Amino acid sequence: MIRFIFLIMISTGLTMGTAKSAEFMSIGTGGPTGVYFQVGNAVCQMVHREAAEGRSSGRQHGYRCSAPSTAGSNYNIGNVTSGELQFGVSQSDWQFHATNGSNRYEGDQKANLRSVFSVHPEPFQILVAKNSGIETWDDLEGKAVNVGNPGSGQRGTFEVLLDANNVGADYFGSATELTSSEQSSALCNGDIDAYGYTVGVPNAGVAQAADGCGAEIINLNNDAVQGLVNDNPFYAFATIPTGTYSTITEDVTTFGVKATFVTSSDVDDEMVYEVVRAVFENFDAFKSLHPAFRNLSPLQMVYEGNSAPMHDGAIRYYKERGWM
Ligand code: GLU
Repeated sequence: MIRFIFLIMISTGLTMGTAKSAEFMSIGTGGPTGVYFQVGNAVCQMVHREAAEGRSSGRQHGYRCSAPSTAGSNYNIGNVTSGELQFGVSQSDWQFHATNGSNRYEGDQKANLRSVFSVHPEPFQILVAKNSGIETWDDLEGKAVNVGNPGSGQRGTFEVLLDANNVGADYFGSATELTSSEQSSALCNGDIDAYGYTVGVPNAGVAQAADGCGAEIINLNNDAVQGLVNDNPFYAFATIPTGTYSTITEDVTTFGVKATFVTSSDVDDEMVYEVVRAVFENFDAFKSLHPAFRNLSPLQMVYEGNSAPMHDGAIRYYKERGWM
């Protein structure tokens, strides 16, 4: 009898196939008050929804998903390509450099990095304390500025901006390395005069500083920024419209990138296919999970901001939908 049950278990196990036994995936995000954390958790929610709906319709997948907070873009690229994470969210500038072995990835090209889709636009924003007197880039000289934690996208992009302005971090009176979830309270407490953050609009972290202590976002449109936009396909001018936060009383001009969802060629086609399918079969529900997702469109997500080769599992779904 026992042997009989055992044989049934083996035979059903075999007919179920590998995709149906529970398999776990982790998505690297960013700080808990940013938008990457919302992206990762929205994707997981759609994956679990498909798993649950599949149970009643007979189309079942066994994937389980978690989206922990991480240090951000470059941390995620490193951990996705080394196999510690299956997916990650990353700025399009760092996806480009990792793919091409340029900038901080010189000599460290990530040939197995794969794109899946892009997500929301991310303007690079410099927030300044209410009475700091800082109105332009030049006013930041000698000030206490948070340049971001190592591994974050904004830290890398802030270094690019310093470089473009022909200065180093010693241009500031002091440069701190606080995380995105620490920087708004540091600004409101008077510990720093300004911070730089590449993040979707709107988001809770920036609102905390704008609404909490009247922080403002300055224009970034000097010659250095003009040069960055002219010379790099992944940078574009961006506008933060009046009224986005309580202290934005005029449109702000800056430059920005796109958030992108990446994986590695070492991740199974089936897993990537099911993740992409879960997002696009439940697209209205996905978009409703955060205001920064409101204007997403599938074709832009497939064709904009992705510089790494597209993962085969994603291509399979996009072809089925006639998007490729
Ligand atoms: N762009 C930031 C980074 O790459 C993260 C923004 C967010 O958490 O939404 O680290």
